Amino acid sequence: MVKVDRDLCVGLGNCVALVPTVFGFDDEGKSVVLDSASVADDILLEAAMSCSYDAIIILDDEGNQVYPKPNIA
Ligand code: SF4
Repeated sequence: MVKVDRDLCVGLGNCVALVPTVFGFDDEGKSVVLDSASVADDILLEAAMSCSYDAIIILDDEGNQVYPKPNIA
């Protein structure tokens, strides 16, 4: 699963340019997830890594965050 943290997104659009079937802009210029099922997980990860603001969050099937790597103290 992929989601966008709206508080971190600044709307630069790397994700939208890279995978326009998955990400789009809402009327505030923030990225939203349109359809994450249309591409493979490695493409979602590539999109997340393209975001300089770590606004794209990847979760595994159990809901655990896999990207960005959670800080484990
Ligand atoms: S790359 Fe990151 S900051 Fe840019 S629009 Fe996508 S989620 Fe927002």
